[in-house]
Amino acid sequence: MKSYQELADKWIRGSGEEYLDINPADKEHVLAKIRLFTKDDLKESLNRALSKFEEWSRTPSPKRGQILLKAGELMEQEAKDLALLMTLEEGKTLKDSMAEVIRSYNLLKFYGALAFKIGGKTLPSADPDSRIYTLKEPLGVVALITPWNFPLSIPVWKLAPALATGNTVVLKPATKTPLLVAKLVEILSRAGLPDGVVNLVVGKGGELGDMIISDESISAVSFTGSTEVGKRIYRLVGDKNRMTRIQLELGGKNALYVDRSANLELASELAVRGAFGLTGQSCTATSRLIVHKEVYNHFKQKLLERVRKWKVGKGTDEVDMGPVVDEGQFKKDLEYVEIGKREGYKLIYGGNVIPGNGYFLEPTIFDGVTPESRLFKEEIFGPVLTVTEAENLDEAISLVNSVEYGHTAGIVSMDIKAINRFVREVEAGVIKVNKPTVGLELQAPFGGFKNSGATTWKEMGEEALEFYLREKTVYEGW
Ligand code: NAP
Repeated sequence: MKSYQELADKWIRGSGEEYLDINPADKEHVLAKIRLFTKDDLKESLNRALSKFEEWSRTPSPKRGQILLKAGELMEQEAKDLALLMTLEEGKTLKDSMAEVIRSYNLLKFYGALAFKIGGKTLPSADPDSRIYTLKEPLGVVALITPWNFPLSIPVWKLAPALATGNTVVLKPATKTPLLVAKLVEILSRAGLPDGVVNLVVGKGGELGDMIISDESISAVSFTGSTEVGKRIYRLVGDKNRMTRIQLELGGKNALYVDRSANLELASELAVRGAFGLTGQSCTATSRLIVHKEVYNHFKQKLLERVRKWKVGKGTDEVDMGPVVDEGQFKKDLEYVEIGKREGYKLIYGGNVIPGNGYFLEPTIFDGVTPESRLFKEEIFGPVLTVTEAENLDEAISLVNSVEYGHTAGIVSMDIKAINRFVREVEAGVIKVNKPTVGLELQAPFGGFKNSGATTWKEMGEEALEFYLREKTVYEGW
């Protein structure tokens, strides 16, 4: 069995209690024993990040860009090894892991190239002997806190723009998936990133989180994770003496609407991929299907035909869906299956644990779920899907909007008027038309509405750079 102990020992420099990083597909394979950070270890990391800020912020941005470009190349060369590590640590299929690794090295290259053109603008002045221009500057030390479900690409899509713009970083990945981030830090170091510019902190968010956020050296916090923790961070930042910029990308309860004009073959494919791809553990996953009454029964038949072919197993085998990430998430998924049964909804597919060693659950579909149901309203973050009938487009849009979240939403339709109304009236940061609710391209800005995000700053695209920069306006006369 493959061990990653050497990687952990070299790059995760905590001195606290031991955490076993275990493969969720068999619950036995220990990838590494991780020494978690204590509060003293964290303080040291915060100090180091602050002490390196002057050097890194004065490094010309094209030079910073070259380091990111080089890191992207190195990651590309090691893509297969990284994908395997991701499958062993988080559980997703090798194909999905490889897609995430590809996205990650492309993100490094994208922000590496953008670093060459970070700059302000020149404006005319009303005074003929004068000009006005702006300068873009880094913020200082930024804290990046990331979840486990995209254990490499989310750290990269925060880290790459943070470094391109000249900030130093304290990076706290999810405790469940620290090894990929250790590998990322190793790659950046080989690409020429000076020691101390990125400071990896591995430790329980519930214990270290407040100290990271509240530290007066932190100029900005970029957080991706649950809405509950995001709200807590928002409050903490508000209480600080020092104004701290904040970016929050949070939970979701994404709906796909199947219109009466939809191509039902396509709709069923998008539904299954969106709901059960990545084991439903994606913030953009489809967790609610809203279906027009005229196609309701026909669509359900297509949906069931397709889900019956969906293969579940170890991510290292030829399967469509791997295990649930760990025991906690597994229990949560099963609890929601029980809630669905208790609330009296019809379980039309799955709901059972798959025998074996890992955390395997069948793709699960509840039918006739009404908007008052907890299944309809609450984020589960597992392979559990609800189906709800809509009388017409008005009702469909109102059902889509009836939850507290507004991350992504999709419509499957051939009717341009229905599509345009959906795009205009649905409250979500990303809208997909005849495409799955999952899947994002790195050059496009991304961020949720309502309780899915703070809507302060976008991630990805050129827009992501703005979060990590402040703009100074200079009036120059002669
Ligand atoms: P989580 O429990 O909120 O944790 C996210 C990160 O925050 C982890 O690093 C966690 O550390 C840390 N954390 C926990 N408590 C904290 C606290 N009190 N202060 C500061 N940090 C704290 O979320 P998760 O279970 O890892 O991820 C799943 C959630 O992320 C879902 O809600 C999903 O929708 C959301 N998500 C959103 C997006 C998006 O772009 N909007 C993308 C992916 C995932 P530990 O690991 O040590 O607990």
